[in-house]
Amino acid sequence: MSKDTLTLALSKGRIFEETLPLLAAAGIEVLEDPEKSRKLILPTNQPNVRVVLVRASDVPTYVQYGGADLGVTGKDTLIEHGGQGLFQPLDLRIARCRVSVAVRNDFDYVQAVKQGSRLKVATKYTSIARDFFATKGVHVDMIKLYGSMELAPLTGLADAIVDLVSTGNTLRANHLVEVERIMDISSHLVVNQAALKLKQAPLRRIIDAFAGAIRND
Ligand code: AMP
Repeated sequence: MSKDTLTLALSKGRIFEETLPLLAAAGIEVLEDPEKSRKLILPTNQPNVRVVLVRASDVPTYVQYGGADLGVTGKDTLIEHGGQGLFQPLDLRIARCRVSVAVRNDFDYVQAVKQGSRLKVATKYTSIARDFFATKGVHVDMIKLYGSMELAPLTGLADAIVDLVSTGNTLRANHLVEVERIMDISSHLVVNQAALKLKQAPLRRIIDAFAGAIRND
């Protein structure tokens, strides 16, 4: 890759879709639809800009080690990754949701906390969950999961889950209730720190275009 080629790491789904208008503001159009193509490297209308599709939780790692020069990733993923080696210039205010604690609707969470019970908490977000319960003074046994967290309280694996909530429909469909909102989440632009020096001009153009296109609603 030439010194002037920029590689942008995105994950499929909501982040990809909601990044497209920001890319358009920078004059960049992705030439293939990731839902239709099996390609992992997508060309754009700019010969020196390409998009790589990676798993959401791998975006910070790609950017940290220079597999991509920049990327878009949720604050949740960024906190769990730690943010080492990443410049985080912009909150893009896209893919917004929250991290919450949820329990079965027949579990008395308030009483369990009041009694000082030890809670079994299943989550993909172990750092966020650990910090939250430590601040609250609640003892927890953390169970790391990689998906379908909603199943954990239903099967007796855990008393509570810590997961992303957007509309709340997934929780409702699984007879779970949100009992604490831990933090609001949105996606951020992350940039490789070395690339920021070596590819300053093209990166600056994208950062400025994105900054001008962030919606404030
Ligand atoms: P909802 O039913 O709208 O509350 O969405 C909850 C489900 O979608 C959960 O499985 C979440 O893990 C997932 N989810 C919600 N918002 C996001 C987001 N911004 N990024 C990734 N996953 C999300």
